[in-house]
Amino acid sequence: MKIRYSLFAVMILAVFFALLTVKEDIYRKPQQKSKISIPHNMSENLDLAGGPEREVRGFPKREIVDLITMYPDLFIASGDSSEKKVALTFDDGPDDVFTPQILDILKDKNVKATFFVIGKRADSFSEVMQRIVDEGHLAGNHTWSHPNIMKISLEDAKEEVLKTEKLLNSYYKDSKDRVKIFRSPYGSIDPKRVEFFGDIGYKIISWNVDSLDWKGLSAEEVKTNVLENVVNGSIILQHSAGGEGEDLSGSVEALSEIIEVLKAEGFEFVTVDEILKDKQEKDRQDNDKLK
Ligand SMILES: [Zn+2]
Repeated sequence: MKIRYSLFAVMILAVFFALLTVKEDIYRKPQQKSKISIPHNMSENLDLAGGPEREVRGFPKREIVDLITMYPDLFIASGDSSEKKVALTFDDGPDDVFTPQILDILKDKNVKATFFVIGKRADSFSEVMQRIVDEGHLAGNHTWSHPNIMKISLEDAKEEVLKTEKLLNSYYKDSKDRVKIFRSPYGSIDPKRVEFFGDIGYKIISWNVDSLDWKGLSAEEVKTNVLENVVNGSIILQHSAGGEGEDLSGSVEALSEIIEVLKAEGFEFVTVDEILKDKQEKDRQDNDKLK
């Protein structure tokens, strides 16, 4: 009888210690992430007018799906799913901290990408902007000051976009033939605004792979978010500059490996205009089949 009691006591103790270890593990995990803090050296007037991504973002997925269905030719979140191509896109640059590092990696890997630039930053960091163009990347319109366009008038939003368009055109010789692409700050847009920008010649470019790098994630987390969600024709969202206090070092650190892994899987890296061209061609073929 006594032996049975002591056995029982030993078992209880074992369970207790096992629980203790598991619990400690749970508590330890959040501390493992080392957050390198980078001084925010962007002057205040160059900050994101609508506030940091982390405070404004949260665009519901359902609404993106609605817009894709409503405006298949205007609102684009991915390309032709039969082509093994992906487009890397970088928002909110240029700056003189993260954008040059991203450009170095892209150059080293011989990959062309698309930068959705903020006009006033392109104006201030003109040398970095010039690099984007000279090194064969595509620049898209991400407004002049990065406001939340749902909270300003259509006229003001149009002015933000046209001012940026003028600046971008000054960089590209073939500005007349350039496909006009626009990405809305924080991804926030509604049908009225999609139609409005469509009417002035823009394609609205969303994404179907979000690195969530604006949350200041580690390289490992950024890699996982991208690589686990990539499919043929994916448009991948990363950032090449941040808002107040945003640390993108994880995103920069992840980039080389993201490129290597996708290259090894046979993906070709293209700019968003090529994704658009492929998609239009595919849609045309599909329509022909229906006739
Ligand atoms: Zn943005």
